[in-house]
Amino acid sequence: MPLAHSVLANVMDPEVPVVSVVDLGIVRGLSWREGHLHVLITPTYSGCPATEVIETSIRDALVQSGFVSTQVEQRLDPAWTTDWITDEGREKLKAYGISPPVGSADKRSLTAEKPVVLCPICDSKNTLQISEFGSTACKALYRCNDCLEPFDYFKCI
Ligand SMILES: [Zn+2]
Repeated sequence: MPLAHSVLANVMDPEVPVVSVVDLGIVRGLSWREGHLHVLITPTYSGCPATEVIETSIRDALVQSGFVSTQVEQRLDPAWTTDWITDEGREKLKAYGISPPVGSADKRSLTAEKPVVLCPICDSKNTLQISEFGSTACKALYRCNDCLEPFDYFKCI
């Protein structure tokens, strides 16, 4: 279903308008069921107010592209993890000035190590977490000790 997929590739995340729902790995499946297009999504960070916005944006974009009969189903199990963000999505986050999540979410919870967060502006590893929460609860606020720029880090979950 390349056409419907390309429509979804242009549905941007409401919080980070440069990455699409496909880049973030939110879209888990796309199929035809009894005459309607079925979209299976796993929202990022449950509890994020953006979840409903994302579902509405997906439905609106598909309807506008001629997929009149669509059904969006949310599946919360297994929970979304930052591991599902595509390489392209990570590049886009970085270009937008947000440091993409480092490493695998599974390993992080086992070791509880602080990630080495790269500065998205100068690639320095010499960064400091200023606050647990950045512009949204899903991000942490960091500052680069080399170029002195503050930036958001997309938390690894
Ligand atoms: Zn820097």
